[in-house]
Amino acid sequence: MEFYTGYQYLVTKAEVRKNSALSFQKAITVDGVFLRCRRCNTKFLKSENQLPDGRYYCRACMAFGRVTSSHYLGVLPLANPKKKTVDLIFCGQLTAAQKKISQGLVENFKQQRASLVYAVTGAGKTEMLFELLHYCLAKGLSVAFCSPRVDVCCEIQPRLQAVFPKLEIGLRHYGAKPYQPTSLLVCTTHQLLYFKAAFHLIVVDEIDAFPYAGDQRLHFAVNNALHKTGSCVFLSATPSETEIKVAQKTGGLFCLPARFHRRQLPLPKLIRIKTQKLPLSYRIKKKFLSQVMQLLQHNHLLLFCATVQQVLAMEKFLKMELGNVAVGSVHAADCERQTKVKRMRQNKFQIFCCSTVMERGVTFANVSVLVFGADHLIFTQATLLQIAGRADRKGDFSNSEVVFYFTQMTNAIRKTLQTTKNLNQQAKKAGLLNEM
Ligand SMILES: [Zn+2]
Repeated sequence: MEFYTGYQYLVTKAEVRKNSALSFQKAITVDGVFLRCRRCNTKFLKSENQLPDGRYYCRACMAFGRVTSSHYLGVLPLANPKKKTVDLIFCGQLTAAQKKISQGLVENFKQQRASLVYAVTGAGKTEMLFELLHYCLAKGLSVAFCSPRVDVCCEIQPRLQAVFPKLEIGLRHYGAKPYQPTSLLVCTTHQLLYFKAAFHLIVVDEIDAFPYAGDQRLHFAVNNALHKTGSCVFLSATPSETEIKVAQKTGGLFCLPARFHRRQLPLPKLIRIKTQKLPLSYRIKKKFLSQVMQLLQHNHLLLFCATVQQVLAMEKFLKMELGNVAVGSVHAADCERQTKVKRMRQNKFQIFCCSTVMERGVTFANVSVLVFGADHLIFTQATLLQIAGRADRKGDFSNSEVVFYFTQMTNAIRKTLQTTKNLNQQAKKAGLLNEM
């Protein structure tokens, strides 16, 4: 069996004895009346997780191979880094504000300080990391770039590959092939459970996204996979107030309130309707359809609904009402998801009804955004900001609009409006917007 550095292997006592270079620990240890899994840090009761043969096992990280009390977690420690030549090919240019953050991230890393980049959707977050990535890779340090979402990983990997064409860049997510080490690894945050003290730099994109936000196992995995001399960079367009405060305290906060193209974030237009039942009643229908047609004059339309049933009902409703308009739909469990998203990119749909699966990570040119039922629980402030962030992402100005339909005002809607206004104001103050 060949061991790669930083990767955490499930081994037996015999294997530990055979490999003196491995550093190891028991996979499950006693913690008071509880047991604790050392791979995912979950605490559990003995009585809950016992196998018929008497061993204990961890249920929380079963999907990654079962950890039992007879296992050890063995890791080959990282070798000393060796400098190497790494070509960075980036033809774009950073704005002055981006440049400042880009340099700040390198400085922070040198001081072993974690950073949080709080940048609005469409600010060009990835580009601001190239300098830091290059700095680390040229020093021979090992780097992981992760996101909670597979879609985002799949989109980032080729982008990084284009910038570092000669570098081997790995991609790992659930169902990937056996581990092969590369200098730069793009992976889901879940995959970090397989590593220990493996990376000098870990970039975590979209820290506010499901499932990373709120999953303590994944937070543990990030810390556990980080080398003791390393540090993390967290990225988010919608961080929580706590995250902002913590970063501010340690001097690790970088804020970019403006988009790359120097236009304001579109302010959501609020429309209250009495009922959201589909098909819509005659009076609501008339208004709603004329709104939709008005949005379609300038852009295509991303139409978000709260539930899969609503997505499908909305698609049916629009197809019936607007016979000559191309309407499509997508949701998380849709097996044609990739194809449909591709067709949307090719401008095949004028109206694309979707669930929150499209809330982030995807960029279409020339779309307006309508959220139907914006007062539904699923639409948190972070979600609404991300959704609104789909509008006016790239290309020339095209009158992209954001419209929220709702019945009852919610905190999330109110805060989304307020945050958008604040960010625009900050951006204006900092001189990051063009006069319209
Ligand atoms: Zn576990």
